Amino acid sequence: MNLIDVTRKYKSDAECLAYLESRRWPNGVRCVTCGNDKVSKIARAKQSKNKRGQYYTCLEPSCKQQFSATSGTIFHDSHLPLLTWFSAVSLLVDAKKSMSANQLKRHLGIGSYRTAWYMAHRIRKAMAETAQSPLSGTVEVDETYIGGKFDKRRKRGPYEKQAVMGMIERGGKVHAMKIPTASKKVLVGTIEKHTTQGARIYTDELAAYKTVGREHATVAHAKEEWVRGDVHTNNIESYWSLFNRALVGSFHHVSVKHLDRYLQESEYRFNARKETGLFERTISRMCRTPKMEYKKLIAPV
Ligand SMILES: [Zn+2]
Repeated sequence: MNLIDVTRKYKSDAECLAYLESRRWPNGVRCVTCGNDKVSKIARAKQSKNKRGQYYTCLEPSCKQQFSATSGTIFHDSHLPLLTWFSAVSLLVDAKKSMSANQLKRHLGIGSYRTAWYMAHRIRKAMAETAQSPLSGTVEVDETYIGGKFDKRRKRGPYEKQAVMGMIERGGKVHAMKIPTASKKVLVGTIEKHTTQGARIYTDELAAYKTVGREHATVAHAKEEWVRGDVHTNNIESYWSLFNRALVGSFHHVSVKHLDRYLQESEYRFNARKETGLFERTISRMCRTPKMEYKKLIAPV
């Protein structure tokens, strides 16, 4: 669903909340603390900024927990209208080159940059793949560096530089991650961890890849060889170039500390490129992803 569809379908926060409830508890509402299904529904007479219009009380006498569909989830404690959240999700799942907090703030009329930034990172957290299966078939591998450049126009930087590694199964999924260094041990270990034994690995001619315990072919970029038969790494290279353009175009620079979430977001969008219902899937994930506190998000690592 794009932004227009979302605003057509959901007219109020009550409608958004009802949708969250249906995604969180497809088999009926249960207490978030004790799991009891005997709960009573209470509608607030007066709605305030940080209280949902409707909540539940657990009828188990020893529990009596009060909760709503957003309690304990990624939406926890947010003062933003749910309609704003829904709109942000539709923008983020649609945006090929992602969207910065400033763009979200402008498009959705959010009061502060900080609020928009925090919301965007919470959505990204819900996009993280929790159980990745190893890649098989033909897998293109390429490592690169993110950041490290001096931004001449803004006279900022040079920023911290981070090694990253990506692998794409032809016609399949991408895995993209930070790596501590681009050493032989790390590169080979990461490939072996993320691919099946029978996978065929295509890389450039970097010596570090030579000992990989898989069928392996290279193209010699140094000798200006880019494609030999079906041996090339064009897909993974385009993936990194799109990712880099997103960083330059939308974010100018992202801190290495938060890079994981940008990688996860881009991975999520790429891996769902042939699917429909991404908005619904993302909202469902957000209902199942535990809260992420601002304090923890900004804490030094
Ligand atoms: Zn309870």
